[in-house]
Amino acid sequence: EAKAMPGSGFRFFDAALAADVQARSAIENDLARAIRAEEFFLEYQPIVGVESRTVRAFEALLRWRHPEKGRIMPDVFIPAAEKTGLILPLGNWVVREACREAAAWPAPAGVAINVVGDQFKDRAFVGYVKQCLMETGLAPGRLTIEVTESVFSVDETVIRESLSELRSHGVRVALDDFGIGFSSINNLRAFPIDQLKIDRSFAQAMMESKRDADLVDIILKLGRTFQVTTTVEGIESEGQLDFIRQRGASEAQGYLISGPVAASDVMRFLSQSDDRLSA
Ligand code: C2E
Ligand code: MG
Ligand code: MG
Ligand code: MG
Repeated sequence: EAKAMPGSGFRFFDAALAADVQARSAIENDLARAIRAEEFFLEYQPIVGVESRTVRAFEALLRWRHPEKGRIMPDVFIPAAEKTGLILPLGNWVVREACREAAAWPAPAGVAINVVGDQFKDRAFVGYVKQCLMETGLAPGRLTIEVTESVFSVDETVIRESLSELRSHGVRVALDDFGIGFSSINNLRAFPIDQLKIDRSFAQAMMESKRDADLVDIILKLGRTFQVTTTVEGIESEGQLDFIRQRGASEAQGYLISGPVAASDVMRFLSQSDDRLSA
């Protein structure tokens, strides 16, 4: 801690900052190479019906298998990809790969993809999604595009038109990490969506305080009012699952059900959950 060293505090801070800046630009330089070298892959996390506990969809989560540093998580490299513009080729790769893999799963299991605002600024993006659906044969209704509320900081018209075009093609749109962004309710009024994913911080907080429990209740009611699917993220205990079942949530996602699994394990997961259903 810099403050504990009188006199040297500022210099210590500068050195730490410089190291941080260097680490970040190293990642940025490395990203372009990694895309060419195909070092990325997807894992899939199941989203289940709260009542049935059967899988409705898998969320595609991006990972980077770095030759020296090992596995790097998206919270580390997505910001760098956004900053460098490399989110466009990387995001396109995610769309194609997720559609390609999901097309091999038995219907109606769907796939959800995370998309950021910059991807919509590229006006070719929606066309690219449609093209991937057509080429892989994945039915549009089996694809969900997840956006966080930060997407609304991009030109509203662009976002509105892009989301509308996707929805009229049959693709579903989900509002991700709901409840922690700005003007949540206004976004619900202004943008047509199909699904609300309640941020995982609520799953924890609702068990600890009445205030947060009430808030989750209200968000679930909001979801019903707008006739959207409500999904609670970060469900880690039976207690949390019971809680959201009692309050009428439609879907759950979290470590209690399963963490993200390798693409090669998705089929096994689906057949196991069939067994559970028929048992
Ligand atoms: P997200 O879209 O909200 O994804 C859910 C994150 O929560 C994932 O982290 C998942 O592994 C984690 N998670 C799931 N269940 C639980 C749980 O029960 N407890 C806890 N503590 N965590 C849980 P991950 O894979 O590290 O992804 C982090 C974020 O990176 C994602 O948040 C998403 O915003 C972003 N991301 C991932 N893949 C992509 C991508 O292909 N494109 C873009 N633009 N962003 C991506
Ligand atoms: Mg997501
Ligand atoms: Mg989320
Ligand atoms: Mg998130």
